Amino acid sequence: TKLVYDFTEGHKDLKDLLGGKGANLAEMTNLGLPVPPGFTITTEACRAFLGEGEEPAGLRDEVSAHLAALEEQMGKKLGQADDPLLVSVRSGAKFSMPGMMDTVLNIGLSDASVAGLATQSGDERFAWDSYRRLLQMFGRTVMGVDGDLFEDALTAAKKAKKAKSDLDLKAKDLKALVETFKQIVLKETGREFPQDPREQMDQAVRAVFDSWNGERARLYRRQERIPHDLGTAVNIVAMVFGNLGPDSGTGVAFTRDPATGHQGVYGDYLQNAQGEDVVAGIRNTLPLPELETIDKASFDELMRIMGILEKHYRDLCDIEFTIERGKLWMLQTRVGKRTAAAAFRIAVQLVDQGIVSMDEALQRVNGVQLGRLMFPRFDEEYVSGGHAARIAWGIAASPGAAVGKAVFDSYTAVKWSRSGEKVILIRRETNPDDLNGMIAAEGILTSRGGKTSHAAVVARGMGKTCVCGAEELDVDTKRRRFTAPGGVVIEEGDLVSIDGSSGHVYKGEVPVVASPVVEYFEGTLHAGADDADELVGAVHRLMAHADGKRRLRVRANADTAEDAFRARRYGAQGIGLCRTEHMFLGERRELVERLILADSETEREEALGELLPMQKQDFVRLFEAMDGLPVTVRLLDPPLHEFLPDITELSVRVALAEARGDSQENELRLLQAVHKLHESNPMLGLRGVRLGLVIPGLFAMQIRAIAEAAVERARAGGDPRPEIMIPLVGTVQELQLVRDEAEQVLASVRAANADSKSALKRLRIKLGTMIELPRAALTAGQIAEEAEFFSFGTNDLTQTVWGFSRDDVEASFFTAYLEKGIFGVSPFETLDVDGVGSLVARAVEDGRRTRPDLKLGVCGEHGGDPDSVHFFHQVGLDYVSCSPFRLPIARLEAGRAVV
Ligand code: ADP
Ligand code: MG
Ligand code: MG
Repeated sequence: TKLVYDFTEGHKDLKDLLGGKGANLAEMTNLGLPVPPGFTITTEACRAFLGEGEEPAGLRDEVSAHLAALEEQMGKKLGQADDPLLVSVRSGAKFSMPGMMDTVLNIGLSDASVAGLATQSGDERFAWDSYRRLLQMFGRTVMGVDGDLFEDALTAAKKAKKAKSDLDLKAKDLKALVETFKQIVLKETGREFPQDPREQMDQAVRAVFDSWNGERARLYRRQERIPHDLGTAVNIVAMVFGNLGPDSGTGVAFTRDPATGHQGVYGDYLQNAQGEDVVAGIRNTLPLPELETIDKASFDELMRIMGILEKHYRDLCDIEFTIERGKLWMLQTRVGKRTAAAAFRIAVQLVDQGIVSMDEALQRVNGVQLGRLMFPRFDEEYVSGGHAARIAWGIAASPGAAVGKAVFDSYTAVKWSRSGEKVILIRRETNPDDLNGMIAAEGILTSRGGKTSHAAVVARGMGKTCVCGAEELDVDTKRRRFTAPGGVVIEEGDLVSIDGSSGHVYKGEVPVVASPVVEYFEGTLHAGADDADELVGAVHRLMAHADGKRRLRVRANADTAEDAFRARRYGAQGIGLCRTEHMFLGERRELVERLILADSETEREEALGELLPMQKQDFVRLFEAMDGLPVTVRLLDPPLHEFLPDITELSVRVALAEARGDSQENELRLLQAVHKLHESNPMLGLRGVRLGLVIPGLFAMQIRAIAEAAVERARAGGDPRPEIMIPLVGTVQELQLVRDEAEQVLASVRAANADSKSALKRLRIKLGTMIELPRAALTAGQIAEEAEFFSFGTNDLTQTVWGFSRDDVEASFFTAYLEKGIFGVSPFETLDVDGVGSLVARAVEDGRRTRPDLKLGVCGEHGGDPDSVHFFHQVGLDYVSCSPFRLPIARLEAGRAVV
């Protein structure tokens, strides 16, 4: 197979093979844009290298051939002494990934060719500057030398020369620095910096391959759920130079503001600089509009190209460019990352500009982003009322409101957050080593770097609040403190609040309020209202489109009338799961105790008789709240012991009473009963339908309460639509027994209400079951004979299919499993499609074969998880049910599953 592609041979849809960077460089080349020539080594070559530990056969020859063609085109050879061709070696995976070796610039420079570069450019300073950069980048990323050693040497050189910035260093200073750098490399690695240009290139390529498996890269992939077996491509690009004097420079740009989505001129530019200088914050960058006054021709050309790119990609693009002595070069583009708010705004802006259809716009946003928009913000009244102590103002890099204790290093961030503290990670600037801390922190604050700095880019990707470039802050990581203007000092552990939407930094804790998107769903803010911003309008339109498209219905998991009202506001089309557990707690617990301990039928009937009216009232309120929509009531599910006193406590009480000589008959009986009912695995014990079959009258009482509540509502002119759901069924016989019992109860309620047509109509109550045990899924065809509906209880099903208990394992071995890549994500969060999912699919098919009109839904946590919703759509469920707050996410994703 072909392992190397020239830029003229690729295109943007080859990201799997050429990586994102390579595919887009090829696309731009073929669009006729000014891209320096080069070629891409495929991800396949990387996978082969990582698998075998050496370059695949033929790679060297292919690289040689493409290099020869490049040399031919450029009219000079790599590292040629009198006029060297220089190249960059750039990693580029399918998904952009901080944490991998990024790029080595100026490959091909050596003791010999540095002179040639000086002569050819007529700029000796430039030549030595380029060489010292090569040593620095190569030394750090390819040879593994601690980058601080180079930085410290550079700082020392600047100090010695009283230089304010690197620009003040002269050719001879840089030449001396090159010597120092070489010594550092030799001392640290025991090896010389390679003088042979091809050797430099080959080593750099190998380092890129290896960086795929670096610790930080793996961590990032786990975070972002990127598969570990993709590998990275490597791009070899002819160098163009932004460090050739004031008429040269380098910059980054967006076709729209990645924070708000607004069109305009967004970006940063740095004169006389190379590569990462812009984002590394070594000097202060200029806002991109200023390029117009510096070099109008290049600016106009850049605007023209940005227009072409945005039209071509039909989306926001971000761009890296370099100007070499007045000539503009494009070095990278991609469809840009953006905040959740910008994603929604941009999607509808593109619709309004006639660039994409509503269906496509729906594809441009997702439920994870919608979830982010529902996060709270700082209380504006509190802030504008002057109650919040603002101590600094930085760049609003990634929105959200974060409050936490100040920490100044990643290690502390992780440590404190593990012990339950909320922390804000504060750094001068971040680098990939800070990734763990950034994950652990509520928010990130830096004193240096712009919207495209590492902190900003990574935080946006993670949906973390970030304020960067708060230059007024003097961050002293060694002493674990920062100083703000006016002598304010924040020490480690002090509370700070940062607002990633405004860039404000506050001392202390600022109260947080709901987001406008939540207010919109709550119905307190209307999309067209004056105070509703563009974002709410965008959410409104995209939600409406999703609702119009989706086939899946959405229901809520709700147990109370209040939850039910909220669920309706959030778009619920019914209740998919009403748990009845809580209806037996509190003061009713004692009645349950009596029920469990009853010696005689009379005692039991008495207890049930007292519970019945209470249960009934619960349902009346719920049916009223959900009037006209289905309400699936699950009969009592949890293990018995949850209703009984704690065995140890009770034993102690009884023992103490005995010692005092006033032991109570009742307590003793209770203790005996608790002993008898004690289980070592209660979750696999007496619960669900088993409970209903063992305690006579319990389910009958619940069913009667549901039926009588329906009658009461119907007689009051309401439209109650209860459905009865039996939990933890493993075999059709269990269901048969409950059904017989239910039919008797319903018949008696019907007989008592024969006078009311509407009541009788509402007493045709569906009876169905949860599918939450493997056996139920495997015998779904039989179970469907007795069940009018299935609701997949994917929480229990996941536990029983995997054989682990969620309460126990998430804290114990899940982290290890995630790290080892056994799971990409917890199976309790996103449905395990291969295992649990195949049981679901099979049960759907078998159940429908028995009963074609079988209603199918899901009521586990997965009902509100974006990926899982797509799966449930595909297997043909009728609805998903989730907590009220996740309903909008389910609606959006159900719509996205269709378009
Ligand atoms: P990253 O993926 O971290 O952005 P890049 O491969 O894009 O890494 O390169 C880092 C920096 O070096 C970018 O600013 C890029 O524009 C610059 N760069 C890469 N190749 C060249 C080149 N051939 N000439 C000039 N600058 C380059
Ligand atoms: Mg980089
Ligand atoms: Mg780049």
